[in-house]
Amino acid sequence: MGVTKIDAEYLIVGAGAMGLAFADVILNRTSASLAIVDRLDRPGGHWNHAYPFVRLHQPSAYYGVNSRKLGSNRIDEVGRNRGMLELASAQEVLAYFDQLMRQDFLPSGRVRYFPQSEYLGDGRFRSLASGGTVEVTAGKHVDSTYMNVKVPQIDPPKFHLPTGVECVPPNALARLANVYDKFVVIGGGKTAIDTCLYLLDLGIDPDLISWIVPRDSWLLDRAKVQPDSLMENILKQIGAIAQSTSLADMFARVEESGGLIRIDPSVEPTMYRCATVSQAEVEDLRKIRDVVRMGRVKAIEPGRMTLDEGSRSYPTNSLFINCTADGLEKRPTRPVFDGRNVTLQAVRPCQQLFAAAFIAYVESAYSDDATKNGLCEPTPHPDSQYDYLRMIRDTLVGQMKWASEPQLLTWLTEARLDGFTTPEVAQLLASAGQPSSASTFEMLQTALGKIGEYLRDEPQTGA
Ligand SMILES: Cc1cc2nc3c(=O)[nH]c(=O)nc-3n(C[C@H](O)[C@H](O)[C@H](O)COP(=O)(O)OP(=O)(O)OC[C@H]3O[C@@H](n4cnc5c(N)ncnc54)[C@H](O)[C@@H]3O)c2cc1C
Repeated sequence: MGVTKIDAEYLIVGAGAMGLAFADVILNRTSASLAIVDRLDRPGGHWNHAYPFVRLHQPSAYYGVNSRKLGSNRIDEVGRNRGMLELASAQEVLAYFDQLMRQDFLPSGRVRYFPQSEYLGDGRFRSLASGGTVEVTAGKHVDSTYMNVKVPQIDPPKFHLPTGVECVPPNALARLANVYDKFVVIGGGKTAIDTCLYLLDLGIDPDLISWIVPRDSWLLDRAKVQPDSLMENILKQIGAIAQSTSLADMFARVEESGGLIRIDPSVEPTMYRCATVSQAEVEDLRKIRDVVRMGRVKAIEPGRMTLDEGSRSYPTNSLFINCTADGLEKRPTRPVFDGRNVTLQAVRPCQQLFAAAFIAYVESAYSDDATKNGLCEPTPHPDSQYDYLRMIRDTLVGQMKWASEPQLLTWLTEARLDGFTTPEVAQLLASAGQPSSASTFEMLQTALGKIGEYLRDEPQTGA
């Protein structure tokens, strides 16, 4: 099989949302040529494996790439997202990335796209169709795969599962062919939340649903991340942190301010993963009364499930729905810029697409790695309740650092993917040191001090 040699200034591995958000800014701000490689046959990454009823968790207004709008900024008039900015479906997200590739990237004449191609490392990839190898001589190698996104369709369950037990990913719910005595949803994250709500939408009696929740989660209220109220709500949360007297008191105050919500008010959550829900979703989830808090599932046999802390019996005609894939894993961070290698990671917590675009902006606007890495400090995905504190800290510290670069602040204010740096936030940041903003900055410093204090008391696990 022959080896083909090509040149490109940027070789981007992965045509998922992060790789495309990076490519978009490079295309629009430079004259560079790009080669984009992905093992899938279409752009959009994990959205190609999505369960059919998934929608974005946060407004479409902040999703996709910087140069192209997703959706039309409509306010939903029906459903559990009523009154809030629309949330694109998986199909809309895929169509968006397909159009981006066909209407913007390829016509630019500077992008070569290699679908169905497995990246082998060192600038080489193999076509999954022809078997031929391509060697790319590239100025920069951009790895958009490091975040290692996993979804249930491509991530089999880790627990023991003999034949005779029907355990499916949520994707299978769209093609139900049997009637079941029980639906057992396994997982406490956003996929499980979506699955429970979908079952309720299908008219399944809430008492026929059993929900395995290893850890309860603090959740973000989607109404509080809408652009018109974001700043006010963030300041309320920071005020609540600043006034708190202990970690427990802090969560109580943040909850009181509306910054965080939980499904069961009688359980203290130990998880935080940036999952975003509406109040209407929470109200419906509360209809499910059989919530099993016995740790993780170890094995399922016909009629029986074994968990970390005991076992449960279920009708033999139960459908188990596996929602345990660790979609957004908490990974060790690495420098974003390292010579010719660029590793895309979140540089603002939970804002991966914004981060990919931001990294591309920094790549195009600054020249040395030390300066670029100073502006692009990676922050791991949150997982525990303590990571909520890190998220607030890293967001504030990053934002204050970026505000000292006037051009960068202008870019942030204009960036479609940046739902955070509204003109009000930019104005506030630009006013640092002036008497008019002294009380706000004092509150920020007090909140950062409290966060440091609570994080010092974090129990060390797994050492
Ligand atoms: C269900 C779900 C909903 C989400 N909703 C939101 C939301 O509402 N708002 C938000 O901001 N974020 C959301 N996120 C988080 C994040 O923004 C998205 O997951 C985003 O699409 C991640 O894109 P990615 O490029 O990092 O990863 P991926 O989509 O996984 O893309 C990586 C690509 O790399 C390719 N690849 C990997 N290895 C190789 C190799 N060796 N050779 C060739 N190709 C390779 C893969 O095929 C894949 O196409 C959501 C995440 C999930 C899982």
